[in-house]
Amino acid sequence: MEPGRASTQLSATDARAPARVRGPIYLDHHATTPCDPRVAEAMLPYLVERFGNSGSRLHAYGWEAEGAVDIARARVAELLCAERDEVVFTSGATESNNLALLGVFQASRQARRHVVTTAIEHKSVLEPVRWLERQGCEVTVLRVPRDGRVREEHVRAVLRPHTLLVSVMHANNETGVLNDVAAIGRLCREQGALFHTDAAQTCGKMPLDVRALHVDLLSLSGHKLYAPKGIGALYVGPRASRGRLAPLLLGGGQEGGMRAGTLPVHQLVALGSACEFAMAEMQEEGVRLLRLRTRLLDTLRERLQGLHVNGDLDHRLSGNLNISFEDVDGELLIERLQHHVAFSTGSACMSTSLRPSHVLLALGVSEDLANASLRLGLGRFTTQEEVDATAEHIVRAVEEARLPSTRGNAAPTRAREGVRP
Ligand SMILES: *Cc1c(COP(=O)(O)O)cnc(C)c1O
Repeated sequence: MEPGRASTQLSATDARAPARVRGPIYLDHHATTPCDPRVAEAMLPYLVERFGNSGSRLHAYGWEAEGAVDIARARVAELLCAERDEVVFTSGATESNNLALLGVFQASRQARRHVVTTAIEHKSVLEPVRWLERQGCEVTVLRVPRDGRVREEHVRAVLRPHTLLVSVMHANNETGVLNDVAAIGRLCREQGALFHTDAAQTCGKMPLDVRALHVDLLSLSGHKLYAPKGIGALYVGPRASRGRLAPLLLGGGQEGGMRAGTLPVHQLVALGSACEFAMAEMQEEGVRLLRLRTRLLDTLRERLQGLHVNGDLDHRLSGNLNISFEDVDGELLIERLQHHVAFSTGSACMSTSLRPSHVLLALGVSEDLANASLRLGLGRFTTQEEVDATAEHIVRAVEEARLPSTRGNAAPTRAREGVRP
């Protein structure tokens, strides 16, 4: 049997939930997903028995590893409707984003270079863009309207003849809001700019076709689609290859010279396996998650006043709910809820500082509402019982965290430092 190939037809109900340690209900699937036990099972033999280096050309250990790499690459390509040789394996979406942005800049021989991105991107796009700016690159960071959707006409308005690259994420990791990447990609193509999208949140959640989306570069991450952490990929289309992308890592020339380093074969097998399960199950899973999310939102709206949904609800990942509450002490809300439900407020990467999310602020959400926001991410193993229990926990926590004052007379929010244990 091929690695990760299920012997029977796959359905969401076949997926076995990982044995959960007793703890809060896990609703933080935008931060990370558990490794699917079927994926872990597929990868294990490549840690122990089939340990070969896929670059070893002279013996069966190497050939076996190489075969597994080929299958994994084919599965990732299939999920993206791409060709196998367009997939470059990386350590995750952070590296993929860095490779796309820095690599295109490095390879460009243009004297004047202009890069466009948006204020709601992940830090692994915004920080490389800031670095490019320090290297003398002209940078435009687009504002995003209240509904969280990047507008094609805003991109059109800032494109110049010397625009090298445009990077707009597919779905935002906080609001789950989807961008019309196909329209923006088409526009970039017309104007001769390369187009990159960070698809870490959509890959494996909805059908992706790199050609229909008109993307030249696309980032994905294993641990957002039920594979382990530490593996990802960058799709490199025909317009971005052939000298238009410089590698960041030099060495043994792996991945067509685009990313040196011995391939972590077990990780690739896991990612390939996760892609295959996603292909087979994403539609059914999406419908199920949308039903659960709707049930959760309906319950909360029925029971609580002053609830705001952050970002457009109709163009959104089915497992995402990002909500804020009026007249609520955000710090107290987190304190009351965090032992029952694992959620996030703002981006997980910033949650140690607990500053209001740069994404919500970019959408014009007030600081008070941003501080009293919950990002809930439902996933493959989330059950209806968990959703119902979560609704109860949120209702109780919000009621306990309600400010005594009424609207327009909100008490000052306390300093947010040191809330988390
Ligand atoms: C998680 C995430 C990343 C970072 O991915 P890693 O594989 O953890 O480096 C980048 N962009 C988005 C949108 C993400 O959700």
